Amino acid sequence: MALAGGVGGARMANGLAACLPPEDLLVVVNVGDDFEHLGLPISPDLDTVCYTLAGLNDRERGWGLAGESWNFMAAIRELGGEDWFNLGDRDLATHILRRTLLETQSLSEVTRHICERLGIVHRIVAATDDRLRSIVHSDEGTLAFQDYFVRRRAEPAFRSIDFDGAEAARPSPAFAAALDDPDLEAIILCPSNPVLSIAPILAIGDVRDRLRRSPAPVLAISPFIGGEAIKGPAAKIFNELNIPCSPQGLISCLGDVVDALVIDHADAESSGTGLPTLATDTLMRDDAGQKRLASEVLAFARSVRR
Ligand code: GDP
Ligand code: CA
Repeated sequence: MALAGGVGGARMANGLAACLPPEDLLVVVNVGDDFEHLGLPISPDLDTVCYTLAGLNDRERGWGLAGESWNFMAAIRELGGEDWFNLGDRDLATHILRRTLLETQSLSEVTRHICERLGIVHRIVAATDDRLRSIVHSDEGTLAFQDYFVRRRAEPAFRSIDFDGAEAARPSPAFAAALDDPDLEAIILCPSNPVLSIAPILAIGDVRDRLRRSPAPVLAISPFIGGEAIKGPAAKIFNELNIPCSPQGLISCLGDVVDALVIDHADAESSGTGLPTLATDTLMRDDAGQKRLASEVLAFARSVRR
């Protein structure tokens, strides 16, 4: 089982999917970024993971579909509608279909439908089908997640984050079943943003307790290489929280659920967490790089398990 956010999560999930048969992988995706926009339910991380596993993602931009067109955005701008959050023409179909299907189905069921239609054979589910929203407290006040992340480009200094609804939320049925599975082999925390993408999953109901109780080892893959994030504000946020962008900092952020760590060679000297640690090349340049890292992580997980 892999816990994932958007880009870093999708890359790792894609590598794992290349190594494992469908029944051996469950990708559990953050929903803290989800919001309603122009009347549509948007699930950015679920869509990034689905589009990536379908091979349809735009690699340069890091979100949305490759070869996208933007007629809708041009039209809504002309009409004076909200244009700060980009929705491509083809991507729009996903959100409109999700709107319709959510009337009778859970977010995980809707995601299964979309995956089937996109030809994805591995299982991708929402971390929770209940309502959970990340809310950022910044030096410019309290901001809904996408107001912070997209509208304000993560520029305001980050102070703390709340996961509205997380306490009452339950893990989605497939996530809960995996947490209870005595034969589960490993729980992989993808190299996603620890604060924005992994923490909201860990905040759901009793997920932290259940991770601790699971016989499967929990492996965290670091999103940092040489103390820097590959993409996005992870390092900026860690700096603003006075947490070092090191293996030790990652552990202090994720907490005591982690049993083992995968870090980049570049960070090996700053390790010293006392946990079993694999230092390797953690940059996933392409499909081959994703598969290589995934197979190393799986082999390491088996060794941690004994
Ligand atoms: P988002 O939801 O799209 O922001 O994406 P995630 O939270 O899943 O991932 C963002 C994190 O992925 C960033 O902190 C990056 O450092 C990390 N990341 C992206 N690509 C790679 C990679 O190839 N290797 C590693 N180790 N981390 C990566
Ligand atoms: Ca995200």
